[in-house]
Amino acid sequence: MTIIVLFGPPGSGKGTQAQVLAQKFGFKHVSTGDLFRYNMKNNTPLGQEAKSYMDKGELVPDELTTKMLKDELQRNPDQKGFILDGYPRTTSQAKALDSLLEELLQSGVDITLALSVEDEILVERIKKRSLDSGRADDADENIIRNRIKEYYDKTAIVSEHYKAQNKWVDLEGVGEIDEITQVLSKEIEKVSSL
Ligand code: ADP
Repeated sequence: MTIIVLFGPPGSGKGTQAQVLAQKFGFKHVSTGDLFRYNMKNNTPLGQEAKSYMDKGELVPDELTTKMLKDELQRNPDQKGFILDGYPRTTSQAKALDSLLEELLQSGVDITLALSVEDEILVERIKKRSLDSGRADDADENIIRNRIKEYYDKTAIVSEHYKAQNKWVDLEGVGEIDEITQVLSKEIEKVSSL
């Protein structure tokens, strides 16, 4: 079982890379953003609650997010590995993840791969993505900037948690998509138990 966390600000390319890497390595891609959007689309109670936060570009409360992640891990037993995209986003989530992985899979995070991209490029990428993503939180520059602020206020600090465990690698998130996939793949191969 290999557990990879893809980390980085909104628009850094986590979702794009996670999809390609999951296919390449045969791992299950788990995106908390996608799970929330699925719940919103189907108007579930979880979706209704998450919407009020997501529409403002704020983080959804930890308890709700962690419960959703736990359900998703339980729904997918017997995987070779997981690529987590968008979780953890707070130190409390990082601690919850360690406990969950231990409890459910007798495992832990193998490595956190962090994509760095400067803010103005993030804003441009997300605005461009909004043309076909249909996401309310992509369409408005104030909301985009609030998401980036949330990242620096609450998420960036999660690096300390993984650095303390020697499970953190900083990588360049600007460049050809394929080249970034290759760099990420090399890091996954180093820790993968395949
Ligand atoms: P992006 O990385 O581009 O911001 P995501 O799809 O990962 O896009 O997340 C969209 C929104 O979903 C976030 O702004 C936040 O409101 C919510 N969200 C996703 N993951 C989490 C999480 N782990 N904790 C809290 N909120 C989350």
